[in-house]
Amino acid sequence: MIEWRSVTKRYAGAASVAVDNFSYTVATGSFTVLLGSSGSGKSTLLSMINRMVEPTQGTVLIDGVDVAGENPVALRRRIGTVLQNGGLFPHRRVIDNVATVARLNGASKAQARAAAAEKMELVGLDASLAQRYPAQLSGGQAQRVGVARALSGGADILLMDEPFGAVDPIQRRALQHEIVDLHDRLGTTIVFVTHDVDEALLLADDIIVLEEHARIAQAGSPAELLERPANDFVRDFLGKHRGLRLEGGRVVDADGRVLGVME
Ligand code: ADP
Ligand code: MG
Repeated sequence: MIEWRSVTKRYAGAASVAVDNFSYTVATGSFTVLLGSSGSGKSTLLSMINRMVEPTQGTVLIDGVDVAGENPVALRRRIGTVLQNGGLFPHRRVIDNVATVARLNGASKAQARAAAAEKMELVGLDASLAQRYPAQLSGGQAQRVGVARALSGGADILLMDEPFGAVDPIQRRALQHEIVDLHDRLGTTIVFVTHDVDEALLLADDIIVLEEHARIAQAGSPAELLERPANDFVRDFLGKHRGLRLEGGRVVDADGRVLGVME
């Protein structure tokens, strides 16, 4: 469980607050998406979880424990971050990319590689890929390597900040399906930031729709947001970018293609 409790952030010198008294609790094991326009405070909220950003007021708690009292290094081991395209080191083989965190934590090369091989299996990567370099992987494989690395320090929370921002739409769709599959397989708590409505609807168990200053316009499942938008802001925001609609529990795009199924 990750809880923001009455959190406000004012950056030094900023005229207004980036985050204004935000409270929300992310359920353990859920795939939660922070959805909002650029500048709405998504990255600030995400960065408070692993203390890359400290709140000006309020607290962030993980399983009821205030992160402000935790060692930042230990915290970042427990919380994996998945970067764009997996964020892999191009000159290191897959196995050594995954082994990086264990090495930093003081494991021997052999120990770290053994642990890395386990993580690769966990995320569904074939052992034959271990000796490849990142450039020799598909986008989906690279993402799995990034997730394996993020998990390798023992993380049970994954943070993802617009991880597919730089990829083309077709590749993006493939990566979205990959991450849903990984979430189903691992059950890790994922907090995912995007400004892309379609992406949020496809990925999320729960979506937090943000207005300026991270004010919550509405939080709920994709089906709830589509069927019962709480206000005009949410209705406009969900409707603006796309022709997605809900049909008998299925998300259908403007061409009638089924993109996902609601539970
Ligand atoms: P988002 O990720 O939704 O685009 P951010 O959390 O990055 O939003 O930013 C929220 C607001 O805080 C924006 O107005 C942004 O300009 C401001 N901001 C973000 N980071 C800093 C910083 N390090 N210093 C000053 N202002 C910042
Ligand atoms: Mg951002």
